[in-house]
Amino acid sequence: MQRLQAFKYELMPTGEQQRNMRRFAGSCRFVFNKALALQKARYEQGGKKLGYAGLCKELTAWRNGAETPWLADAPVHPLQQTLKDLERAYANFFAKRADFPRFKRKGQGDSFRYPDPKQIKLDQANSRLFLPKLGWLRYRNSRDVLGAVKNITVSQSCGRWFVSIQTEREVEPSVPQATSAVGIDMGVARFATLSDGSFYAPLDSFKRQETALRKAQQAMSRKTKFSNNWKKAQARVQRIHARIGNARRDYLHKSSTAISQNHAMVCIEDLQVRNMSKSAAGTTDAPGKNVRAKTGLNKSILDQGWFEFRRQLDYKLAWNGGYLIAVPPQNTSRTCPCCGYVSKENRKTQALFACVRCGYEENADVVGAINVLRAGHARFACVPQGDFLRGKVSDAVGSPAAGTHRSDSSRLDAAMSAVGISGL
Ligand SMILES: [Zn+2]
Repeated sequence: MQRLQAFKYELMPTGEQQRNMRRFAGSCRFVFNKALALQKARYEQGGKKLGYAGLCKELTAWRNGAETPWLADAPVHPLQQTLKDLERAYANFFAKRADFPRFKRKGQGDSFRYPDPKQIKLDQANSRLFLPKLGWLRYRNSRDVLGAVKNITVSQSCGRWFVSIQTEREVEPSVPQATSAVGIDMGVARFATLSDGSFYAPLDSFKRQETALRKAQQAMSRKTKFSNNWKKAQARVQRIHARIGNARRDYLHKSSTAISQNHAMVCIEDLQVRNMSKSAAGTTDAPGKNVRAKTGLNKSILDQGWFEFRRQLDYKLAWNGGYLIAVPPQNTSRTCPCCGYVSKENRKTQALFACVRCGYEENADVVGAINVLRAGHARFACVPQGDFLRGKVSDAVGSPAAGTHRSDSSRLDAAMSAVGISGL
């Protein structure tokens, strides 16, 4: 089985290399913005959007033209990759996956990508790599790169430069070591609650850093714009931003690694952006949960966390031979795991679930996670806990349209036999 993996390292560039990397990132940004402006202008004049080949022709003209001769100093492949990125941004927009492409600003995701492995030389023994127009760059060699290099992305964050090496290699399909299945309920008060009762603290539990960030932002707003002190304050704001981002990333990786190693099958709610923005405000009949927390910036951070968490679970489970199952979220918070009674009365408070029929009481998030797990089971096999679950829960939560995230049936079979579910 093919395994794609990225390895990221901090670069230790010379002063000249840093200047060049800044210029190359700037050239890519310039090309992206110029191409976007061109597409917009063509659209306003009723013309057709240029394809990738058409944009590349324009790029050649810009590089050879008198107006922007400095574009010729930047390596041509990364500039073309920028046009590919713009193409993808448009495709995502037309497929309703993303907003309309926006102009890039300086300091916002400064990066560029070398797509051709033939132009890249990786010398791991000497902790250095060769990139066109930059020469040999030293990097902090913290671990071995495994597999054949496919492409390389150079990026900048808070004045530090990083290289991400995308590789591909053949690995033996792994057999899951774990033998358990678990359901996960994603939430605001608790980031993730597992059906076995354990839970992970919320993603926004970095309050201390957020206070520091707010203070730094206030300090920056008091300075004269673009003065030296303003620049210092700005650098401080960026440093804190990076620290919060790193802490979150680290947290997501640690929790997704632990869960994917401990369980062969993981069931998770199939949350979609549309569902979540809808559920935030709610209706008078079913008022939204944690409306304030789910709106604004906070919401976007949480959403990102959820999707990134799910993406990591998916690929890490695949690496370990496990399987991620997405189930539609209807009624997972209102169904009694003990007797199967479905009612919103069961949900006494945000935190407490108490069945009005059989009196079963449990933390509401744990109940959600148990129901997610059972819905995952019900999707694929007989449910050992009694017939009501097949009747009620699978009707409520197991529509055939939703289900496995990826159709890798042999891996699913392995995961299912690991947790003791007999075939489909
Ligand atoms: Zn009950």
